[in-house]
Amino acid sequence: MNKKFAKKFKKKVCQFCDAKLFYIDYKQTEILQRFINAFGKIQPSRITGNCAKHQRKLALAIKRARYLALLPFIGDRIRGNYDKTRA
Ligand SMILES: [Zn+2]
Repeated sequence: MNKKFAKKFKKKVCQFCDAKLFYIDYKQTEILQRFINAFGKIQPSRITGNCAKHQRKLALAIKRARYLALLPFIGDRIRGNYDKTRA
């Protein structure tokens, strides 16, 4: 296989399958925050590498955390009051 080709299609591993986690806790916001972008949106599994099963559980956990105001519905970036020097 071509070296350039191999680099382009690096296989992603589901982080939750790797850690053998069956339940994603909505209270663990440090973990959930890794799967939302600066706008507060849930990242697609093609970017994070999650499997379908864990992506569904993750989405549910993020939505629960949003309802309890642990995570934002809309990130700081879209409101315009973010530090422009940072990203
Ligand atoms: Zn998984």
